[in-house]
Amino acid sequence: MPGNADLQTAREQLVSYCGRMVADGLAVGAAGNLSVRAGDMVAITPSGVSYADLVPADICVTTLTGEEVDAPETPSSELPMHLAVYAATGAAAVVHTHSAEVIAVSATSAELPAVHYAITGLGGPVRVAAYARFGSAGLAEAAVAALAGRSAVILQNHGAVCYGATLPEAYDRAVLLEWLARVYRLARAHGVPRILSQAELDEVAAEARRRRYGQRRQR
Ligand SMILES: [Zn+2]
Repeated sequence: MPGNADLQTAREQLVSYCGRMVADGLAVGAAGNLSVRAGDMVAITPSGVSYADLVPADICVTTLTGEEVDAPETPSSELPMHLAVYAATGAAAVVHTHSAEVIAVSATSAELPAVHYAITGLGGPVRVAAYARFGSAGLAEAAVAALAGRSAVILQNHGAVCYGATLPEAYDRAVLLEWLARVYRLARAHGVPRILSQAELDEVAAEARRRRYGQRRQR
């Protein structure tokens, strides 16, 4: 079990990123939710508390199977989806947004295609998981299935889920996803977008790996 210090850091980080999520326009009011895994515990934002009023003591802590360890408020209704992502991936943080551009894509498309090479940072074209009611086991299942080989998924008529090895990484992916969805909308306003092929994306991913390895060799 992680020390209180890990959980306290997670609580503070979650409150800080909730503020960013509203400021960056990725969610409004109390919509969307964030979590961080600390060992075999998950710290998650509560349900129904406006981000403007949220303080670290409001953050809920559960086990990886959802038993409440410290829950001053009701844990987010999407706790099952967060737990399903932790169970299926190596995630240490999960960010769920209700951002406008991805929701617009979700209402019209089966995936967000590779309109910019930066989509390789999410693992490739981002799938849209079929609609299921918020908070349902079906939504958790659909989200995890559509995440295969990706660190992001769009939820039909709902929002998006991104994960990462840290909360900043998961959050940056949510920002990137929203930006890519915006670029796609702008491109479609001009005409039929050119989309990068899998071979072109593979080349980008290989070059990114090569450059990261190069940096490590210089240390
Ligand atoms: Zn939601």
